[in-house]
Order: sequence, then C-alpha cells, then structure tokens
Amino acid sequence: MDRDQCLALDAQDPLRAFKDEFVLPEGVIYLVGNSLGALPRRTAERMRRTVEEEWGEQLVGGWNHAGWYEQPLTVGDRLAPLIGAGPGQVVVGNTTSIAIFQAVAAALRLRPERRVIVSDAANFPTDHYMVQGLAGLLGGYEVRDLAEGRFDDAAVVLLSEVDYRTGARQDVPAVTAAAHAAGALIVWDLCHSVGAMEVDVSDADFAVGCTYKYLSAGPGAPAFLYVNPRHQATAENVLSGWHGHAAPFAFETDFRPADGMRRFVVSTPHVLSLAALDAALDIWERVPMAQVRAKSMALTSLFVDLVGDRLELASPADPAARGSQISLRHPEGYPVMRALIDRGVHGDFRAPDTLRFGFAPLYLGYTDVHDAAATLLEVLDKELWRDEKYAVRLAVT
Ligand SMILES: *Cc1c(COP(=O)(O)O)cnc(C)c1O
Repeated sequence: MDRDQCLALDAQDPLRAFKDEFVLPEGVIYLVGNSLGALPRRTAERMRRTVEEEWGEQLVGGWNHAGWYEQPLTVGDRLAPLIGAGPGQVVVGNTTSIAIFQAVAAALRLRPERRVIVSDAANFPTDHYMVQGLAGLLGGYEVRDLAEGRFDDAAVVLLSEVDYRTGARQDVPAVTAAAHAAGALIVWDLCHSVGAMEVDVSDADFAVGCTYKYLSAGPGAPAFLYVNPRHQATAENVLSGWHGHAAPFAFETDFRPADGMRRFVVSTPHVLSLAALDAALDIWERVPMAQVRAKSMALTSLFVDLVGDRLELASPADPAARGSQISLRHPEGYPVMRALIDRGVHGDFRAPDTLRFGFAPLYLGYTDVHDAAATLLEVLDKELWRDEKYAVRLAVT
C-alpha cells in the first residue's frame, strides 16, 4: 500500500472527524495511546470550569451543588455503555490496582470455602502483585498461574483480555465459561480493551480497567469497577471507606454498606481528575465502537504489512486475535525506539526487547501509519539507532 492509497483511505474514514477533537503536537505521530491517550481539546476548558467556577466560586458547596459527591456514580454511568454495562453497575475512582484488590477480595468473600486464586503470571505485573499482596494478608491462599489451565477449587480467576506486552487477546468467553463451570468467579481486566474494542461485561462477575489509556482521560485518571448486578446485594467492599457507607454524614461508629454500587466507592472523589474523564466521555458517547474496532484492525494490519519481515512480530498475526497494538522484537529495541521518537514517531519499549506501538483509531490515520512504518524502516536501514545518545536509559521507558 503506498502513501496515496493511505490518503484515500483517510478521506473515506468514517471516524476521521474525531482527530480534530484531540491536541497533537505538530510533527508527532503518536503511537502510545495504549499507555497515555492524547489530550482531548475540550478537556482544558472543562477543567478550567471545575477549578474556577466550581471550586473557585462554590468552594465547599461544590460537593452538593456541582455534583462532586455523586461523581463516582454519575461518571460511572456515563462510562458504562463502553463496556456493555447499564446504569448503577459501574463506579469510577481510585486506580486499577485498587479496583483489582476490591474485586478479588469481594470475590473471595463470596467463595469463603475456597482457597485458590488463579492469576496470570504473565499479566501486567501490578495485577499479579495485588493478588500476591492480598493472599499474603489473608494467609492460607494458593496463587495458581492461569497458564496451568486448572480452575478446580478456585474462588476467583483474574483475567486480562489483552496482553500488555504482545497485544495478544485472550479467549475471554472460553476462560470465563471454564471458570464458571468450576464454580469460580471471574474478574476481567479491561485496561487495554476499553476504547479499543467492543466489550460486553454481562458474563463477568467483576470488571476493572483504567481510563488514561485509549479513553484519553489524562495522566493518573481514575479507574472503573463493574460489579454484576447479581452480586451487588451480597458483595462486600473490604476497603470500607466512609463514602461507601449507607449514611456517610451520620458519622456512625460501625460500617454499614450503602445499597447498590455506592458501597464500592471508597472515599473522597478525585474531583479534578473526574472532570477530565467526564470531558473525554463527551467524545466517547458519540463514538461507534464497531467502527473503532474495524479501523483498529485495519491500522494494525497495515503497520504489519508495511514493516514486513524486517522485525520479528511478537503480536498475533491474525488481527482478530490481538488488541489495538503491535509489538515487534529487536535485540537493540531500546535505542531503536529512542531514535524513532527523535524523528517524531512515538512508541514505547518494554524490556527486554519489545517495541510497542499502540493504535488509537480516533486520532490516528492510515497515512500516519504509513509514515511511522517508513521512519522505522529508515532507522533500521541506516542504523540510526547506533548513535550513542540513544543508549542511556530514561526512568520511564
Ligand atoms: C495499565 C494497566 C494497569 C495500570 O494499573 P494502575 O493501578 O492504574 O497503575 C493495570 N493492569 C493492566 C493490565 C494494565 O494494562
């Protein structure tokens, strides 16, 4: 596919207008939307309003009059359609790691007779670390690797849909069915799914994910937690903070959980971060997710075709079997990525040898992908990565 064909595809792209809703620096092709989504244009104005008009003018009255107190639930309801959930099924707040702790702990309390937690050792480390911490706190639990494929006696299975390293997509329906058949509950981690593909959480018992990746809610944006309605009356939030209490402002001595999803709110909402998430959702409520997934598969396939066999493909070759990212291996992956970034093509690097490229269909076009691949091939052909300034590792890779 040549550059003119890519220009023609961009001209016909039904999602092309969304690109204008994002701020992208001149000369940058941003392939890191799977790590920190680009800034939506509307976010700065929305945050200015929250700071100046709500905080500045209403002061503490903002909790009542600007909707701050209800935000974990109201913003959760706005996010819910992106994961196939309904109103009253999602709260936003905290971080994905904390939501994992809440979900896994709640599942363990719903299966008190069982002592096995199944977790993917190859998952994004924080998921596995949180499980290890929880098992250590409780004592007497076995943490079993998902790769063993055994769910007998399991209380809960923690499953990430998309592998952060390779972009490989798990067979979520199959693992979920096997977990349920064995009597276990399942927690889905949707960090690399939400905003990249259609999701339907109705078969999950719990689901979590972050909003700063494809959703573009900003650095440190809150996470989401979904609890299936069938568990809402019985599931417990072990992080029983005051905002999950039935009557927080009664200041009672003992914890009494609120009804419904409110019991999963922990404490004071991150009002400024929630404003940025709310602004991003103004875009997402207009986005047809089927078109996002179709374009995502087309962009990743185009990149693979253009790079050809110059680098080893670490992602599945079948676009249906991967998320919205392509991972390539090179023994000198770190300096290669630094040389690319120096030429305006932003990807990232995951040790020991993986170059990661995320494809956010709302602000990336076919021509961008063409130019990114051409720059990568130039860096390799001319060995531009050998410049010694690319050898020194920065703290965040
Ligand atoms: C990005 C990501 C996280 C991030 O967790 P935080 O608590 O937000 O730092 C967790 N799990 C997975 C699978 C991720 O991809």
